Amino acid sequence: MNLRRAAFAASLLLPWLSMDSALAQSPHPSDPNRECETCEDLCALVDQYWQKELGIKVWQKYAASNTLRTMLRPGSSLNQFEKIIYEQELPKAWKDRPLPCKLAEGWQNTNRLQAPLQQPGPEDTGLETKAFQGPSCNIVWRNAKLEGDIEKHWRSTHVCKGSADAELAHEQVHQKICLQAWAQDPANAASDLAQPENVAESELQAWKRHRNQLRDQIQRLAHKCGWQPTKGQKNDPNAVPTPTQTKKMEERGWHAFQVLTSSPP
Ligand SMILES: [Zn+2]
Repeated sequence: MNLRRAAFAASLLLPWLSMDSALAQSPHPSDPNRECETCEDLCALVDQYWQKELGIKVWQKYAASNTLRTMLRPGSSLNQFEKIIYEQELPKAWKDRPLPCKLAEGWQNTNRLQAPLQQPGPEDTGLETKAFQGPSCNIVWRNAKLEGDIEKHWRSTHVCKGSADAELAHEQVHQKICLQAWAQDPANAASDLAQPENVAESELQAWKRHRNQLRDQIQRLAHKCGWQPTKGQKNDPNAVPTPTQTKKMEERGWHAFQVLTSSPP
């Protein structure tokens, strides 16, 4: 049993130990260092989690590590590949995906969750790793290196710290792959990194890391907010609430139902 599994098992047995007055406090969306600790935060976290889960299947379809991957027409450019992903595959995967519940009060940046991720570009609201321009592989936001006030501003676009940390961890996966490529073969790094199957592979790994970090955040909160996992979910250390379960939790007022009523699960 690994540590995370042990912690998760403990959280199933003893949800009341972690009940905490912070749950009742209203969130402060403008504070970039606010932990994800209110039940309203779950809405954004669960939504992003399932968005990632669906997107991972898309990247998987084209990733270099998948020997049965879908092949592009020979000579397809990275641009053409990105058009397929961002204009067809991801919108299709995310079609009719309602938000599980209301977003934390006052958090204005709802477009980020409702609209499909945009193609990287200057107007993009997300982070980007500069992989093709040289060995520094900087992580940037709106074309400025992510540091100091830039990082603070970017963090304030997230509902809470764990959500921002998960996105940063995503970029750090790209950065690591980028640094390795430039260290190993500087003459070919840019063109290797731009091969569609390598882009898809890098995204596949980054989206998995992103999803896993969101999962950790969700699992820390879900039981405090009244998640009633099914039998199957109880036996699965990776389970998180479905959007429907999250909606029901919100409708019940986020009460930790089992604890309050002592009813058997
Ligand atoms: Zn990415």
